Amino acid sequence: MIEKRDFYIGGQWVAPQAGKDYQVINPSTEEPFAVISLGGQADTDAAVAAAKAALPAWMATPVEERIALVEKLLEIYKARGDEMGETMSQEMGAPIDMAKASQVGAGTWHLSNFVQAAKSYPFEGPLGDHAPNDRIIHEAVGVAALITPWNWPMNQVTLKVGAAAIAGCTMVLKPSEETPLDAMLFAEMMHEAGFPAGVFNLVNGDGAGVGSQLTSHADVDMVSFTGSSRAGKLISKSAADTLKRVALELGGKGANVIFADADDKAVKRGVLHMMNNTGQSCNAPSRMLVQRDIYDQAVETAAEVANKVTVGPASESGRHIGPVVNAVQWGKIQDLIQTGIDEGARLVAGGVGRPEGLNKGFYVRPTVFADVTPDMTIAREEIFGPVLSIMAFDTEEEAVAMANDTVYGLTNYVQTQDGARLNRMARSLRSGMVEMNGQGRGAGSPFGGMKQSGNGREGGKWGLDDFLEVKAVSGWSNEAE
Ligand code: NAD
Repeated sequence: MIEKRDFYIGGQWVAPQAGKDYQVINPSTEEPFAVISLGGQADTDAAVAAAKAALPAWMATPVEERIALVEKLLEIYKARGDEMGETMSQEMGAPIDMAKASQVGAGTWHLSNFVQAAKSYPFEGPLGDHAPNDRIIHEAVGVAALITPWNWPMNQVTLKVGAAAIAGCTMVLKPSEETPLDAMLFAEMMHEAGFPAGVFNLVNGDGAGVGSQLTSHADVDMVSFTGSSRAGKLISKSAADTLKRVALELGGKGANVIFADADDKAVKRGVLHMMNNTGQSCNAPSRMLVQRDIYDQAVETAAEVANKVTVGPASESGRHIGPVVNAVQWGKIQDLIQTGIDEGARLVAGGVGRPEGLNKGFYVRPTVFADVTPDMTIAREEIFGPVLSIMAFDTEEEAVAMANDTVYGLTNYVQTQDGARLNRMARSLRSGMVEMNGQGRGAGSPFGGMKQSGNGREGGKWGLDDFLEVKAVSGWSNEAE
């Protein structure tokens, strides 16, 4: 059993002051394999105090030096990538090859995009020729609490830490209690990179404990949160008394609108995207909206593709999908699959129960429902498992109305060969991101949502904006430094 109870505070690993033991479970085996500590108020206070003490010097450090430290971190992160992949795979069940490639790769991508964006970011500059003594300064918001989920652990940690560090914020990271070990490995990397003591601190804990203590703390200036919309609402209320800045990246219920003229790989691509990471992605295309002319064929293809998706332990090499993260998620997904059946959706692949041959581990059958209607629970709730809902539409207007008929607005997807329609759809869909014909978003593109998917924008230039205040100065001396 791995024992990792300490927290990283003020540049060193320290024993908890108010900790409670917590077991980390391997979702492939249901066996605990590590013990950490969930902190309490005294631990939160110590971490916030360290971040507050380190703030003035870190804000005054030239941005070039802050960028150089993030570059150093990136080198270390790449060098220890396999170790990071193994840690995430064991904790949250991403199959080992996928963990090393995509889960680790997401972190590399974000850190290098921040370095790139920061080099041309206008941290300080004139307002304009009409006001030569006006200066606009972008400076750190202050002490930032970073609260992250378990599904793409390093993706989320690097999106927050990379941006906060370059912006000049000091920070306290509270990773998900399901995936604390990868975050602790990341803390080792921050230490090795040589960030000054107190710039980065880590306290493990749960939402009700360290999470709430951070979001209500008088010395925390901002909260950057990624997780469920449920927790996002609680955090907004908790942060309201101290009027902190709150950046939220929440859940989703993405529509993938497939028109009759879509390319012939569109349905397969949509199903595989849904199943990736065992359906545990906020931007999963979980509602497949198919134009009536190709509907029957699309349902048949989707079922075939889902039936070929294999499921197995995270430790095994290969292109299978792993278990879902824990017993609670497994139970919730089973209930939602049963609700889909009870409400009259047509089950064409998968179903309740574990896949054949897997009796232990939080494994779910890759599941596809056809004939889903917009009022059904599985069309409305984020399932966060490998479950796809297919719905039919006739016209473009109807597709837009159906896609937008959700409280969420994170990512929508469009498949058509008609250029004018692509652009009309991109403008009409109410989501922070629209991805079309399978093309991924480019380096430095902002990630974030509308409506109950949140208000933050992470990655690249926009990710830096989230951690910066805008200061307007008049009477600036252009003669002095
Ligand atoms: P969660 O909301 O249960 O937990 C996320 C984090 O918040 C954890 O660290 C948890 O301990 C903490 N937390 C929970 N309640 C809290 C509270 N009241 N105060 C402070 N902290 C609290 O979410 P999860 O189950 O870990 O992650 C899955 C969710 O995350 C899904 O809804 C998914 O869509 C969302 N997600 C969103 C994005 C995005 O960028 N929009 C990315 C990944 C995941």
